[in-house]
Amino acid sequence: MELDFDWLEDFIARSLARLKVLAAKQADWILAKLLEGISKGWGFEKLGKAIVDALGLGLADALRWARTVQMAAYRTEGRKYREQVDFIDGWVWFAQLDERTCTGPGSCSEQHGTFHTNNESINELTLHIWNCRCTELDHVRGDPNPITGEPIEE
Ligand SMILES: [Zn+2]
Repeated sequence: MELDFDWLEDFIARSLARLKVLAAKQADWILAKLLEGISKGWGFEKLGKAIVDALGLGLADALRWARTVQMAAYRTEGRKYREQVDFIDGWVWFAQLDERTCTGPGSCSEQHGTFHTNNESINELTLHIWNCRCTELDHVRGDPNPITGEPIEE
């Protein structure tokens, strides 16, 4: 199977803008902690820990970025697989429904259980690519919707 990296080029283009902002934000977080620590007379250990914590915000964002690109790769490869097999006619949006799931029109909560054809992907449909934990469940032609139990009309 030939690898398709078009989606990755698009993802990197969007990520570059975010990374450029992140570096400046991280510098602001560190500077704010330095100013706070110096103005309050913190010792070097407390000030050092505050700086490490500020650096950790960048680490948390890096982990989110890595998880997001992995999810995008998983969805892209899943779509390529679905296109090659006749018995899968599309996919059903599966959202992890909890307090972290977005709500409102077009949100992951609202999309949960909706059927989509193979030419669609959560990568393009989600309102927020960052932190989206949603999955595309393969739909076997003729089976009911695995979320709602309702028949899926073609
Ligand atoms: Zn989502």
